[in-house]
Amino acid sequence: MRDHWEVEDYTFVGVGPTIGNGAVMQLSANGHASEESLESYALGSLGEPALGELEEHLLLCSLCQDQLKEIDAYHAAMKSAAARLEGQDESRKKLWTRVSGAMTFRRLGWVMGLVAIALGGLALRVWLTPTALTPAVALVLETSRGSEVRHAPARRPLELSLDVKGLPAYPLYAVETVDAVGQVQAQSTAAVSEGRVKMSLSQGLRPGNYFARLYSPSHELLREYGLVID
Ligand SMILES: [Zn+2]
Repeated sequence: MRDHWEVEDYTFVGVGPTIGNGAVMQLSANGHASEESLESYALGSLGEPALGELEEHLLLCSLCQDQLKEIDAYHAAMKSAAARLEGQDESRKKLWTRVSGAMTFRRLGWVMGLVAIALGGLALRVWLTPTALTPAVALVLETSRGSEVRHAPARRPLELSLDVKGLPAYPLYAVETVDAVGQVQAQSTAAVSEGRVKMSLSQGLRPGNYFARLYSPSHELLREYGLVID
């Protein structure tokens, strides 16, 4: 029994860089797995006895589990970004090489970097632009253009003008915007001005198909306009 305990104790002796058999200690001074060892573990290049020691710690430590998840996500993101770049032009690839070479950290920076590269910087610019400062997109919805569906950008304040030509005249109309499954996104009441009823969507809409509906004061559906948010 005594012998058994000594063997068990052995792996906990010393928190220095090496343990007795010369293998690199997988737990750093704070008692958690080092970033390097998690990195090699994620890449499948960690050998015994380090592997066993690390897995044992991972079983018990949610902190290190989380860090490993982060590392895995990073590798997955890198892989898919690299795959997406296949077939893209050479200059883009060179930029990618330079950026990935410069990325020695993996905090917010890499997410922003990947997004910027994958979408040519467009997504990043949109993301960094506060919605409040974005001018509203004005859109006239009318039936005279046949079945043509209007398009608008996502997450931009929208200023919808619904054409009421040919409809019974009411002092007020009710308007609402619903998504593809009929969920109401916005509702308001407005009087006609210059042949149109206006509706503001200050928060904009997510990408998808929508309908702007015009109702009489007694909530009778008068007209429906298709709207596609890209
Ligand atoms: Zn830990």
